[in-house]
Amino acid sequence: MDGPRCESQDLLAWFDRCRRDLPWRSTSDPYRIWVSETMLQQTQVERVLPYYEQLVSTFSDVDALARAPLEDVLAVWSGLGYYRRARYLHAAARQIVARGGFPRTMAGWLELPGVGPYTAGAVASIAFGERVPAIDGNAARVLSRFAALEDSPSGKTGRRRLTALAESLVDDDRPGDSNQALMELGAVVCRPSQPRCHECPLEASCKGRLQGAAEAYPRRKPSRQVIEERRLGVVVRAGGRVLLFRRPEGASLLAGLWEIPWIAWCARDNAARELRSRYGGNWDLDRSCGWVRHSITHRDIRFEVWTGRLTSGCHIAENPEAGWYTETEVGGLAVSSLVDKVMRCAAD
Ligand code: SF4
Repeated sequence: MDGPRCESQDLLAWFDRCRRDLPWRSTSDPYRIWVSETMLQQTQVERVLPYYEQLVSTFSDVDALARAPLEDVLAVWSGLGYYRRARYLHAAARQIVARGGFPRTMAGWLELPGVGPYTAGAVASIAFGERVPAIDGNAARVLSRFAALEDSPSGKTGRRRLTALAESLVDDDRPGDSNQALMELGAVVCRPSQPRCHECPLEASCKGRLQGAAEAYPRRKPSRQVIEERRLGVVVRAGGRVLLFRRPEGASLLAGLWEIPWIAWCARDNAARELRSRYGGNWDLDRSCGWVRHSITHRDIRFEVWTGRLTSGCHIAENPEAGWYTETEVGGLAVSSLVDKVMRCAAD
């Protein structure tokens, strides 16, 4: 047996021997498979595991997820990052319920909000046995090295070639396992650096390895420019509570999440005026606690943390986008992980 069919069988045999035991692998429930695949986008398995358990125990099926207020879903998601995924998951759950059930094909999944080719292919193949590929970052790395693809997977041509190659490796009888095998291989054997080629079922025919240049693949596109930002934030405490504001629903980043009040960095003398202009009220800054650093997508944020007071105005009680919360309550809110860092810095 030669060619893709042979490699597909080798991959499956390896997967049967070496697969990790993960909770979403012991179920055929499309809801759980869909939730796991959504969480796994750009996020490592170990990090996803507690969030997955929490989400499926809080919302046990798609009906429960669809019925829940978005705020509750964001609160469970809080800390996992890339919050847009939680919003899409929730919106898609409502559409699934409205349509009367889960789509059974990749094309059907692609109609749902926030579902791209990877998630659609993964759920359609794993939960419904459709013979379609699913290419996450791990699979893309394996395939790029295996075929020594000169095109970056993030470009159009590279994506087309990867898809054709992945399709040729999907087993007729076990499409979901084929896809998972490729992703698993990338996660544990064909790692970004120092791939363990001697453990790999594709070793004999992998062009990247045969060239002695596996790590030169996947080819990269020039990286996106990182935007550096400096901010000044104020931790305002009163009666054991901290003051938070909620970001607008339409914000391009972290929409709807709660955060510490902040402004673009400026000298202390101007900060009170800038805070007043952004949030209303009269502000006093007491003490600079230091700086924290935080990355969100392509932004590198340096955040100077101050403690301070809101001496009048701002009408917090009437403002649904502002509130005083105890530390325990903050734990149950949908907050950016920057809030944790800032609170820790202000507590030191
Ligand atoms: S042989 Fe090495 S480089 Fe090629 S797919 Fe396997 S682990 Fe990756």
